[in-house]
Amino acid sequence: MKALQYRTIGAPPEVVTVPDPEPGPGQVLLKVTAAGVCHSDIAVMTWPAESFPYELPLTLGHEGVGTVAALGAGATGLQEGDAVAVYGPWGCGTCAKCAQGKENYCLRAGGLGIRPPGLGRPGSMAEYLLVDDPRHLVPLDGLDPVAAVPLTDAGLTPYHAIKRSLPKLVPGSTAVVIGAGGLGHVAVQLLRALSPARVVALDVAQDKLRLAREVGAHETVLSDARAAATVRELTGGLGAEAVFDFVGVEPTVRTAGAVVAVEGDVTIVGIGGAALPVGFGLLPFAASVSAPYWGSRSELTEVLALARSGAVSVHTETYSLADAPLAYERLHKGKINGRAVILPGG
Ligand code: NAD
Ligand code: ZN
Ligand code: ZN
Repeated sequence: MKALQYRTIGAPPEVVTVPDPEPGPGQVLLKVTAAGVCHSDIAVMTWPAESFPYELPLTLGHEGVGTVAALGAGATGLQEGDAVAVYGPWGCGTCAKCAQGKENYCLRAGGLGIRPPGLGRPGSMAEYLLVDDPRHLVPLDGLDPVAAVPLTDAGLTPYHAIKRSLPKLVPGSTAVVIGAGGLGHVAVQLLRALSPARVVALDVAQDKLRLAREVGAHETVLSDARAAATVRELTGGLGAEAVFDFVGVEPTVRTAGAVVAVEGDVTIVGIGGAALPVGFGLLPFAASVSAPYWGSRSELTEVLALARSGAVSVHTETYSLADAPLAYERLHKGKINGRAVILPGG
């Protein structure tokens, strides 16, 4: 089969031919219908050889949907042809976190070498994808594969982040979204669907701000040195009850810290690597800062249910597998508005 692989440190990913995978005991083979392009892959492809955590070559793609092509011995609960979305942050399935469906916070995944597809295991940017267990699949139940595939990360990750802050997003409150890209433009919609908060979106690009307004942001602000003052003004000087940073670089975490309200939440989702120091007098009283990872299994079913109700619609552009390197190049240059989706079936 054809697959998009990251093969050489620092080089662009390549479309290559690899052996067709076969499902072992308990596994499920999917024929991939759609695979989403996440900015995290770009980060992975900038990591130096000395600290690169995965084996190369690595088939990319940690957002995937497909149809069941074959079931390994003992894999039950699915039929060939079922359309499903892949829950990506695989865990052991049995530790205290996994028992709650929070496989994204599995206590044993690291020790057991369990890794998500596309982030250590062969990913969804291929004609076929091996899934380790039927519990990591959620029925699409009528959702369009292209519209649904980004929900497995660009939907699930902001959903998980936003859920933590929902009790603070009461009428009259403000939520700030920094970075209105793949994750951020879904975050705006999730905030509108789940809370009465006023939503303020920040980005460095005007086309991203336009998309943020189209999908429901009440206000948009150019993300520059003056942005924090502008957001404070918009909130009557009080700041925002919740700030979601989908970039995570020095200027954005600084803005996040400067606009959060007393007892507000800052959630750093972007993996830009910057730190926001917490200490007495450094942030407004009782502000909390968290850096979550992906989301739980039950949260993925909730996000898909929300999409079925029509509350979330991902802005997508599609590419063939042969053109997948171009999609990454465009994402790297900031030219993708919404999410790029690869169609490995052509
Ligand atoms: P994306 O490229 O689609 O979106 C990023 C957006 O941020 C773009 O619109 C860009 O214009 C904007 N931006 C860049 N610099 C900015 C700045 N200084 N101020 C404001 N906006 C700025 O990326 P994505 O796929 O949505 O991913 C967003 C981030 O989230 C990435 O860092 C990615 O690695 C990370 N991520 C984290 C998790 C997690 O579990 N924590 C999961 C998925 C993605
Ligand atoms: Zn991702
Ligand atoms: Zn576990």
